[in-house]
Amino acid sequence: MKKILGTSLLLVGMAAFGQSKEDSIQFRKISTEILNNGKGYTELRELTKNIGHRLSGSEAYEKSVKWAEQKLRDAGADKVWLQEVMIPVWERGKESLHIQAANGKWKSLKMLSLGNSEGTGGKDVSGEIIMVKSMEEYDKLPAEKVKDKIVFFNYPFSQSFVETFKAYGDAAKYRTTAASLTAKKGGKFAIVRSLSSAFDDVPHTGAMRYEDKVSKIPAVAIGSTTADELEALLKSQKISAKLNSNCGMKGEKLSHSVIGEITGKKDQSVIVVGGHLDSWDVGEGAHDDGAGIVQSIEVLRTFKKMGIQNNHIIRVVCFANEENGVKGGIQYGKTVKEKNEKHLFAIETDAGGFAPRGIALDMDNVKRNQIKGWSNLFLPYGVYNFEERFSGTDLYPLHDMGIPAAELMPDSQRYFDIHHTEEDTFEKVNRRELLLGATALTQIIYMIDKNW
Ligand SMILES: [Zn+2]
Repeated sequence: MKKILGTSLLLVGMAAFGQSKEDSIQFRKISTEILNNGKGYTELRELTKNIGHRLSGSEAYEKSVKWAEQKLRDAGADKVWLQEVMIPVWERGKESLHIQAANGKWKSLKMLSLGNSEGTGGKDVSGEIIMVKSMEEYDKLPAEKVKDKIVFFNYPFSQSFVETFKAYGDAAKYRTTAASLTAKKGGKFAIVRSLSSAFDDVPHTGAMRYEDKVSKIPAVAIGSTTADELEALLKSQKISAKLNSNCGMKGEKLSHSVIGEITGKKDQSVIVVGGHLDSWDVGEGAHDDGAGIVQSIEVLRTFKKMGIQNNHIIRVVCFANEENGVKGGIQYGKTVKEKNEKHLFAIETDAGGFAPRGIALDMDNVKRNQIKGWSNLFLPYGVYNFEERFSGTDLYPLHDMGIPAAELMPDSQRYFDIHHTEEDTFEKVNRRELLLGATALTQIIYMIDKNW
């Protein structure tokens, strides 16, 4: 009882501290500055329309490196540099998927090879489709039933979760493991129902992985209505599929993450805010993660513009290769270790440029509770959820070193309609929602810088 009382008194004390008049005035100034003068939306238009999608290893990615370097300078960074990182190069090339019904006619299906998948080397590979609705169902299939077949993993993206990231987490293993599971039982290739919250025929790509010592057969995704139609056809007849694709890994290449920072007046410890500069090779990588890049640059610009005297280094990291290797995040963590740079806090924004709803906090309870004690300051900006415990993919190496890590949590209802698709375009981003995300990031960094 005593302990409980002690904890709650501490929390009340922190909350009172968090609601200081000075901080709430500063929060308002930050939001007024960003909503009126924010450059993030215009910069996102440049990135998406002038450069477009920018898969690691592509020419477009290299252009985006130069672009981000310039934007960080324009925002007023005291120092901007490129961090070398070796990245895997994957290319899509031409691809097509056809199905043939019992009447013999071939029909083309909208599809995307999954990222990192090998293709068919430009040759037709065909076979009869067998469908499974779950991993459990697949596990029960004897190898002779799968041999020389095409396995269609038709596991639906659950509509039951309110937070769509939970549905994504629930279904993601189908995308990542379908090819190796199919290969182990002698199948020819795998078709996966897209990880999509939408009911349309748009296929979603995304990273898959091969298990060691298992033959590298192709895996492709189809949209949810295409999957439903295929399921309906399979109920009444045998269907064959034919895949022809050229995708595959093309070795490694030297590339860069882009980093900019403003000097701290008190010490050399670092606060990181970042997103990933690369995207998949379809659409424009607007929500994923152009939004996170321009929001992170906005944080730096706002500190400079408002003349906030930050105590610590505030550093923006535009990570390379999040989508198909996380090599930028890994290299950043390695460099922090080598240079023994003290990091106070790191936050990533990589969940779409939608209105912010919360900040996930992956750190010890003392620090979590301190941040939660500031939550009333965030309420007028629609940011209320500080309960989740995770952080950005690029930050896992930092988190593993014990550095407090976090991720901005925007409204998730529309993200998986367009995630990793041709539909992830600038037009799907709302200026105010994007800038409110940048506002929440600037506010949390302001509080961490002042209090830690
Ligand atoms: Zn992303």
